Amino acid sequence: MKTVQTVAEWRQLHATYHAAGKSIGLVPTMGALHAGHVSLCEKARRECDVVVVTLFVNPTQFDESTDFENYPRTDEADREKMTTAGVDLVFVPSVAEMYPSGSDYTVQENELSRDLCGAHRLGHFTGVLTVVMKLLQIIGADRAYFGEKDYQQLQLIRGMTKAFFLDTEIVPCPTIRESDGLAMSSRNVRLSSEERALAPQFYAILKSAPDAAMAEQQLRALGFVVDYIEDKTDRRFGAVRLGSTRLIDNVSR
Ligand code: AMP
Repeated sequence: MKTVQTVAEWRQLHATYHAAGKSIGLVPTMGALHAGHVSLCEKARRECDVVVVTLFVNPTQFDESTDFENYPRTDEADREKMTTAGVDLVFVPSVAEMYPSGSDYTVQENELSRDLCGAHRLGHFTGVLTVVMKLLQIIGADRAYFGEKDYQQLQLIRGMTKAFFLDTEIVPCPTIRESDGLAMSSRNVRLSSEERALAPQFYAILKSAPDAAMAEQQLRALGFVVDYIEDKTDRRFGAVRLGSTRLIDNVSR
């Protein structure tokens, strides 16, 4: 597996892949990889000639600096997982490489990005859309793979590629869960053993409660701090906190 740190180096490689007619699949991540990320890599492996994973903990999408500082970083284990999944190349840029003009230029969406998680994490989706726009422009992939676990993010990225006539196809991938139902997340390692034992109730209640208000009530009774539970069209969305860890999930209704 090749490691590339600069845009210039990637562009040279991209030219050779392009000349050879190879299709490119992109999997953007912030590292601390788990089976959810691996499933995206495996789907890209099946569908594309060249699989590129980007590993970049994007500072502009964190609304709390402690969350950024404490974000798990597991580079060696990540490499092993990517190699096993058949990833060809990992792009690991520095912050200076990704933000040569600081945050002078950003991508902002004005509706959906203010709802659900956006209402609780100010500026989060502007950070996400800006970095994803940069990665899509840099990598020039045929397809890019995103998890339905971050459903609002997926919808916003799809909307952005449509609004800006981007060439990369956005491919949704199903949420991968632990055997007890908890959606896999890099942040789960921060849960204490008591919190980890309680966490699967989030998914169970999202699925079983008759309406959003009842789900919220049941979660609060168990000790979850609820940011929101909302039913929108055919899905139920939720974000809760256990101690300092924030969990998000969504289910179809
Ligand atoms: P992250 O590293 O958390 O930014 O996630 C990188 C990509 O992996 C995003 O497209 C996420 O939606 C996706 N992802 C994270 N967790 C899961 C999961 N449990 N199942 C499927 N995809 C996931």
